Amino acid sequence: MTAPLRRTKILATLGPATDTPGRIEELLRAGVNVVRLNFSHGTSEQHAARVRSVREAAGKLGLEVGVLADLQGPKIRIEKFATGRAELRAGQRFDLVCRADAPPGDTRSVGVSYLGLVDDVRAGDTLLLDDGLVALRVEAVEGDTIRTTVLTDGVLSDRKGLNRLGGGLSLGALTDADREHIRVAVGLEVDFLAVSFCRSAEDIHETRRLAAEAGGRPHLVAKIERAEAIANLREIVDAADAVMVARGDLGVEIGDAELPGLQKKIIREALERNRVVITATQMLQSMVDNPIPTRAEVLDVANAVIDGTDAVMLSAETASGSYPVKAVEAMVRICLGAERQFDHDTDFEAAPRGLARADQAIAMATMFLTEHIDVRGIVALTESGGTARYLSRFRSNVPIYGLSRHAAARRQMALMRDVYPVAFDSRGLSSREAAGNAVRELFALGLLAVGDRVVVTSGDSMESKGATNTLRLLEVGEGGVAVGLGDL
Ligand code: PGA
Ligand code: MN
Repeated sequence: MTAPLRRTKILATLGPATDTPGRIEELLRAGVNVVRLNFSHGTSEQHAARVRSVREAAGKLGLEVGVLADLQGPKIRIEKFATGRAELRAGQRFDLVCRADAPPGDTRSVGVSYLGLVDDVRAGDTLLLDDGLVALRVEAVEGDTIRTTVLTDGVLSDRKGLNRLGGGLSLGALTDADREHIRVAVGLEVDFLAVSFCRSAEDIHETRRLAAEAGGRPHLVAKIERAEAIANLREIVDAADAVMVARGDLGVEIGDAELPGLQKKIIREALERNRVVITATQMLQSMVDNPIPTRAEVLDVANAVIDGTDAVMLSAETASGSYPVKAVEAMVRICLGAERQFDHDTDFEAAPRGLARADQAIAMATMFLTEHIDVRGIVALTESGGTARYLSRFRSNVPIYGLSRHAAARRQMALMRDVYPVAFDSRGLSSREAAGNAVRELFALGLLAVGDRVVVTSGDSMESKGATNTLRLLEVGEGGVAVGLGDL
C-alpha cells in the first residue's frame, strides 16, 4: 500500500516574505504545487529572480511546480495623500478628483488614477475603497469632481483600490502595463497567465493573442472578480483554461453575502465545462500575523475542497506574512482532512451528454470502470495534459498519473485535482509497450505496488494531441511488470 496523496493543489503567492534564501525550497517541500507572481507589485527583475529560485528548488527536489503570472488588470486606485493617509468619519463630505494634476490627498479629497470615473458613476452609487473598508455614497458629479458622503469611519492610505458596489465601471480589461507584463511573463516561460477583472470571453481571447505574439502559449486563468464576469460566466469559462474564484474583489463588487453561493456556482460551472478552478483570497488571512488559523478559516478551506475546487490559494499569507511555511503546512493538513471526510461519487447523470472527442469518451469509460472495479490508479499517457484534465473533472477518489514528455504540460497538470505529473517519454513504442513501461516506471517511483489494478489510457502514438483512443485494464505484477486481467 502506498501513502495517501493530497488531492487538492496549493497555489502560493511569492513576495518579500518568500525572498529569504532557502524559503522557496521550504515552501515546495511543504507542498506548494504552483507559485503565483503578482504583477501588481514588484519589478521584472524580482519576478525573474523568483522564477529562477523556483525552478532551481523544484529541480533539486524532483518536483513539477507550475508558475502563474497574475496580471494587474484595470484596478482603479486612488492616488496618494500628502501624509500617506487620511482618517475619514461617517457623515463627512469627501471628494474624488479625476484630474491628472489633482493635489495630494487630505481628509477632504484625493485624486483618482482613472480619469474616466466621472462618466461611470451616478448620484446614489456606493463606492468601496480598500476592499470595502471605507464606503462612500456618491452625491453628485460636478465637472471632474465626484462629491461623496463617507458612510463608514475608516482610514484610507495611498493607492488603495476602488470598486463600485454592483460593478459596471467601464474600464477595459488589459492596460498598457498588462500588455508589457504579458511579454515579460512569456519571456519567463510561465505556465499560466491570470487575467484580472476580465469582463467577457473577448478579454481572454485578446490575452491569448498577445501571449502568442510574444511567442508563448501559457494556460489562461480567468479571474472572476467583477459583476460583468458573473453575467458572462459561461463564455468566459469556455474561453479560458482555468478560472479563479477571486473572492477579494468579487466580494466588494457584488457584496460579500453573495460569495458562498457564487463560489459553488463557479466551481460547478468550471467542472462541467472541463476547466480547472482555483479558490482564492483570505483563506488563512489571520496567519499573516499568527502561526495557526482560526476555526472559521479551517472550515473555509475545507468547504472549498468539498465544493470540488482543484486548488486553494494563499496570497498575503505567503507573500508578506510572518508565517509563510506554516500557512502552507496548515493548508496541506486541512486539505487532507477534508479529503478524508469527503467521498465523492462520480455523477454520471451530470456528466456531459454529447461527447465531441475520442479522448473524452475514453475518460468517461475510465471513470465508469473506477466506479465498478477496485482500481488504484489511472495512468494517462498524455501529450498536452488534456486527457488528465478530462479525467480529473469527474472527481473520483483515484489518483490520476499524468505522464508526459513535455515539461510545460506536466507543470500545467500540477494545478489539477487528483493529477500527479510524471516525466515519461514513450516515443517509438507501441501503445502496449508504452503502457507496460509506464506501469513499471510508477512502480519504480513507489507510486504503485504489486497487486494494484490500474487503468491506462493512451493513443496509438504519443506524438499527437487529442489522440487518446485506448483503455487498458492491468494489474501490477512482480517487479512492476504489468499483467492483463481476466477475472475481476
Ligand atoms: P488579487 O486577486 O489578489 O490579485 O486582487 C484575487 C482576488 O481579488 O480575490
Ligand atoms: Mn483581485
